[in-house]
Amino acid sequence: MRLSKYYLPTLREVPADAEIASHQLMLRSGMIRRSASGIYSYLPLGLKVIQKVEQIVREEMNRAGALEILMSAIQPQEIWEESGRWDVYGPEMFKLQDRNGRGFCLGPTAEEYFTGLVKGEVSSYKQLPLNLYQIQTKYRDEKRPRFGVNRAREFSMKDAYSFDVSPEAMMEAYQVMYDAYIKIFDRLKLKYRIVQGDAGAMGGNSSHEFIALAETGEGVIVYTEDGSYAATDEKAEVVYSVEARDEAPLEKVHTPGAKTIEEVAAFLGVEKADTVKAIDLMVAGEPVLALIPGDRELNEIKLAAFLEVAEHEIAMMDEAQVLSMGSHPGFTGPVNLKGDVRIVLDRRVAEMKNFVTGANEADYHYLHTSYPRDFEGEVAEDLLMVEEGDTAPDGALLEFARGIEVGNIFQLGQKYSKSLHATFLDENGKEQFFWMGSYGVGVTRSVAAIVEQNHDEDGILWPLNLAPFPVVVTVVNTKKEEQTALGEAIYQKLLDAGVDVLLDDRNERAGVKFKDRDLIGIPLRISVGKKAGENIVEYSTRRKGENIELTAEEAVARVLRVLEAH
Ligand code: ATP
Ligand code: MG
Repeated sequence: MRLSKYYLPTLREVPADAEIASHQLMLRSGMIRRSASGIYSYLPLGLKVIQKVEQIVREEMNRAGALEILMSAIQPQEIWEESGRWDVYGPEMFKLQDRNGRGFCLGPTAEEYFTGLVKGEVSSYKQLPLNLYQIQTKYRDEKRPRFGVNRAREFSMKDAYSFDVSPEAMMEAYQVMYDAYIKIFDRLKLKYRIVQGDAGAMGGNSSHEFIALAETGEGVIVYTEDGSYAATDEKAEVVYSVEARDEAPLEKVHTPGAKTIEEVAAFLGVEKADTVKAIDLMVAGEPVLALIPGDRELNEIKLAAFLEVAEHEIAMMDEAQVLSMGSHPGFTGPVNLKGDVRIVLDRRVAEMKNFVTGANEADYHYLHTSYPRDFEGEVAEDLLMVEEGDTAPDGALLEFARGIEVGNIFQLGQKYSKSLHATFLDENGKEQFFWMGSYGVGVTRSVAAIVEQNHDEDGILWPLNLAPFPVVVTVVNTKKEEQTALGEAIYQKLLDAGVDVLLDDRNERAGVKFKDRDLIGIPLRISVGKKAGENIVEYSTRRKGENIELTAEEAVARVLRVLEAH
């Protein structure tokens, strides 16, 4: 490819709204352009890398026995109604209607769609197991689109769905995908960890997330040094217990202006851990008070799972709602609430005795509150966010790291086959629901993760197998005939050898060309400059900064050797 004929709009300046390296570099290197919040177009260089990633995903999925299909990005409302997810997905789903008022959505994922497809077609155990996948654009109206294609509202995802006759067969299919994902992310040259994930809106039993390690990642994972435990911070169990103390009589105390846990603990001269945080929530329109130890944070995902609601159905109460349950903002607690307020407490609160909590009256708290003596409520085993200093279930200290979720696999069980009545006939002619799994890879997000892990201050450092072009030949000064001629000759030789080579034949200053090739991160390069008349060129690599003079023939041979060895 001749750069003079290519479309490569590089930017020197760092775009103002791009916070992290991958977002900045994908814009600057002319891979992507933003058209609206979280919505991107892919320019030639960007599309080329995406296609390489897709190809790796495709090869490993095929090798694992999955079959590629392509479903529509538009999905009918009815199937989502049947599974109950039309509402559960909530505001994240792009919903639309056709001219006759029929409801559709732009698919955020496709469990229902694939189940519906198979339901009409697969009727016998003899047709199983089956694993179907697609590489398809997905749509999610994310609350906070950010970091470029990392958290976009339109993105490419590979999604696969397995259909099996039994839980054992489902788990086998899951293991095959688990192994295929290791191959995929190894080939994508990512540094990643596999962690236990939250089943979330998928609603299944077991799940794993593949997290590309990055300081700028939105995800937090915890793990033990020996690798025996690894989970997302949302999923990680918080396992500590507190010692019960002797109960003392409930006592109301004046705590003027002390609203936050910090203020109350300081005013009363107690530890934060001796107080209980009451979090005033409206859950699917009903008042709920969640109680956790004062020194901890609430994990809303665990609360949503305990209450069996979707996360987006949990909201903070406003002042009026706090007052209407007979309380006062900043001073809520579980004792003597008016009306029907559902109280849910973390196990640690149930174990604690004599804790401080709001008295539902301005400027007052209770000392020595105890459960169940002073109030009623439902005990949840664990409602807490994991934090530094916590241990894994086996007692080992947890380490923390940040990362980008690039893949997620789920054992779905019979959730979708049951809700959509998708059955097959087993060996005995008996109707059974499919046992399912679903498996996602964020294709465009993986590209961002690769850039995030592979860059320096000058630009991207593409791994050889993912680079948009493995080699660039730079004609330093196109006005010099001998440079152009030698550059062309080398270019032709590499093309003839089947190499996807880029020729920088632009009539630009040498500095511009060198900056661009650093920015777009081409791994191998040949510069044809002053010594072109002597048949001498410069061979260099982007990553190690190796830089040597070779004859044109030696340079070509060297490139071919490196590519072959790869
Ligand atoms: P997240 O927790 O980051 O919002 P998710 O768990 O909702 O992601 P899944 O439903 O598991 O996402 O989707 C499968 C994969 O699709 C994810 O592992 C991720 O790589 C990718 N993905 C999900 N949401 C986005 C997005 N908004 N932009 C780009 N890729 C995404
Ligand atoms: Mg996920």
